Amino acid sequence: MIRTVVSALLVLVLCSCSTGSGRDISGERIKPVKLDPVLSSKQAKQLFGAKATGSPQNPAPFGSYARGCQAGGAELPETGPTWQAMRLSRNRNWGQPELVDYIEDLSRKAARQPGWNGLYIGDMSQPRGGPMLTGHRSHQIGLDVDIWMLPADNLNLTVQQRENISSISLRRSSGAYTNNNWTRAHHEILKAAASDPRVARIFVFPGAKVKMCNDEKGDRAWLRKIRPWWGHHYHFHVRLTCPKGAKGCVNQNPPPAGDGCADAQQWVNNILNPPPPDPNAKPPVPRRELTMEDLPNQCAAVLTAK
Ligand SMILES: [Zn+2]
Repeated sequence: MIRTVVSALLVLVLCSCSTGSGRDISGERIKPVKLDPVLSSKQAKQLFGAKATGSPQNPAPFGSYARGCQAGGAELPETGPTWQAMRLSRNRNWGQPELVDYIEDLSRKAARQPGWNGLYIGDMSQPRGGPMLTGHRSHQIGLDVDIWMLPADNLNLTVQQRENISSISLRRSSGAYTNNNWTRAHHEILKAAASDPRVARIFVFPGAKVKMCNDEKGDRAWLRKIRPWWGHHYHFHVRLTCPKGAKGCVNQNPPPAGDGCADAQQWVNNILNPPPPDPNAKPPVPRRELTMEDLPNQCAAVLTAK
């Protein structure tokens, strides 16, 4: 019985990826272009995963969040007055200058919360963006960042400590509710994060969105950008809109109008009482690895720029 429910849930989860809401996390697709056959025969994640530094080009995101790359990526300093980048061995503390500025600004606001001296910053993008060897479908164009839920009280962590310590989970009941680790400071930090006009969306588990919907007694406009999503209970994920004038950058459609609280509540209800599986649901199509041909043609130059 349990197995049936689990596989039914799995089908639901996977199938929703091909619907409009599945675009929430991955962004829009763009047309592939013909390229150098040597480059295009290799998986893009191996090519981009091998780059240790940003491309010496003017900053520009190319493509969409889950299908693109970044020129002129900037490195978030490993430690700043109000932040530390975590898991430095991954070398994913790179992004467009707008993202680096955003993180620094938000960390200053977080530092004003009780128990917080700033933020612990998880994955941004690889130095030149692109698909990754492990984890994440998005984070490809230097405009996504994962921010830890663990209050950053100690900003003197060593490199080794930043490899070893873990964030904390804020969820219980499979994400239907927040647990005892949730604090008002999380609400305030997510509110500050979403209220910034540079932000397109923030992904967090459904129970957290409903909690904030219930607790917010003031302006609710910011809740629109808080999008319930699977996972995202050890960190929240901030996605910026394409910077002004970034011609090759593909924005997602904005979230639906309204605060999205009823949808989040429905998601929670479905976690608690899963609906029966759709007997006509098509099996999910396995995902193909991206090659250079799948990426915008500017990405070949980003990859090879010296
Ligand atoms: Zn993320």
